[in-house]
Amino acid sequence: MPDLDLVVKEIAEEMRQRPDRGEVATYIPELARADANAFGLAVIDADGNVALGGDAETPFSIQSISKVFTLTLALGKAGDLLWQRVGREPSGSAFNSIVQLEYERGIPRNPFINAGAIAVTDLILSGHQPREALGEILRFLQFLADDTTIMIDEQVAASERATGFRNAALANYMKAYGVLSNPVEFTLGVYFHHCAIAMSCRQLAMAGRFLAHQGRNPSTGRSVVSPERARRINAVMLTCGHYDGSGEFAYRVGLPGKSGVGGGILAIAPGKASIAVWSPGLDAAGNSHLGRIALEALTKRLGWSIFGA
Ligand code: GLN
Repeated sequence: MPDLDLVVKEIAEEMRQRPDRGEVATYIPELARADANAFGLAVIDADGNVALGGDAETPFSIQSISKVFTLTLALGKAGDLLWQRVGREPSGSAFNSIVQLEYERGIPRNPFINAGAIAVTDLILSGHQPREALGEILRFLQFLADDTTIMIDEQVAASERATGFRNAALANYMKAYGVLSNPVEFTLGVYFHHCAIAMSCRQLAMAGRFLAHQGRNPSTGRSVVSPERARRINAVMLTCGHYDGSGEFAYRVGLPGKSGVGGGILAIAPGKASIAVWSPGLDAAGNSHLGRIALEALTKRLGWSIFGA
């Protein structure tokens, strides 16, 4: 078995040198300020060993990676009834597609495209004030990562709110079909803020550990979800975590993963490790360009693809 720390450092150095870096997202103006040369990688194995490479300690906007954690919370609240509001099939279309929502009469394809995540956020919000719901999501991440310094980047949230016309269209559309229970501006407010949570690769890899180890944090022994639920969240990550790039990610990396337009990816090697990578330049589907390439190199060198060598 190759030395984990060495492999992580090697990959970080290889990525630092690559000229192809993808395009930083600009549709949320605050995200356009990210440094295209940044690259971070963090891997935490079953024994709790932490391997860090590059800018693994720099916080970035987790964006849609937050949707893994809101899905986990919503399943805790609603159980399988959640699947009446949102499907679990890959979308094959862009993360902010409006046309698909119209075809499917307001029921989003899966919880990771924007429409699905907004429906999931609405469920978490029900019975609470927006700031309570947001506090619950933030505290859940702080608990999972065992780190109370994790915060929301208010400038990113404000920037997204000011320009989030497509998300407002998706939310209003679902409201028209009765899929959302709360006022659209409340649900969107919570959604924009949880997307604006800032975390480093190390914090994110810590937060994902329960998914790699049958629902438990192996270091504390604390159970977060049942083994069955962890398995199912991983299945949705594998099939839907990269939007219309999900097939390509499974083909090349072979792990459940969730991307965000901030350039982060959380990837899970079941039984082995929780992995977070960050590089702000994106590919055409809105997934981190070097993040995917780095994960492909990692799974290949360590033999970690769930599909075998
Ligand atoms: N907050 C972003 C949006 O709603 C999330 C998109 C993403 O990370 N793919 O557009």
